[in-house]
Amino acid sequence: MKNNLLKLLSITFLSFFFCYQSCLAEDTWTYTQSSEKLKLMTPAIALNLLKEGNSRFVSGKMKNRNFLQQAKLTKKGQHPFAFILSCMDSRGSPELIFDQGIGDIFAGRVAGNVINDDQLGGMEFATQVMGAHIIVVMGHTSCGAVKGACSHVTLGNLTQLVNKITPAVNTVKKDSHTASLDCDKAETVDMIAKQNVLNMIQQITEKSPVVKKLVDDNQVIIVGAMHNLATGVVTFI
Ligand SMILES: [Zn+2]
Repeated sequence: MKNNLLKLLSITFLSFFFCYQSCLAEDTWTYTQSSEKLKLMTPAIALNLLKEGNSRFVSGKMKNRNFLQQAKLTKKGQHPFAFILSCMDSRGSPELIFDQGIGDIFAGRVAGNVINDDQLGGMEFATQVMGAHIIVVMGHTSCGAVKGACSHVTLGNLTQLVNKITPAVNTVKKDSHTASLDCDKAETVDMIAKQNVLNMIQQITEKSPVVKKLVDDNQVIIVGAMHNLATGVVTFI
């Protein structure tokens, strides 16, 4: 009787151990998006995946992924659920701060997270062609491009880039009822960065009938976000 009980306990323990190992491998190490998962997803679920990912990043509990295995699993195709337009700043990699793996998101990165025709083309490909459910325009605190726009920096090709942020500078200036802004003040730069995100979101639907139709049909949502470089927290706006 006692031997049988020990045998049963051993089998239970071993089953749990091997199941746990395989579940871990399936769910966290090698989890990748598939066309089936993407079809079942909604824009609200996609937004939630990003929110959950950022919570894991902020709490230091990121998924333990096997990136090489994910690369092998996605070699024949990709099914990303999101397009994230963010600044090229080295501290704002969207894959990291949203705790996503290989094949999960399209990342469009340019200083100041500004819209241009090529980024719009990328968004149209990501959503209309590939079926991504969400477009995020993400600015961040202490953005050098935004500060450059505030300070009217001119330098080679950078001039035309920061000029795209100038409308946000003008809006903040107007709202502050001041003739000139203090561009060394972090709060001022962050206010401009947030306004710039809102301006870019407006431009997406104005300049892309393809994305606008998907938004009108509730297939895609466009959301703005601000990434706090110091805390890692992404606040959706
Ligand atoms: Zn930046």
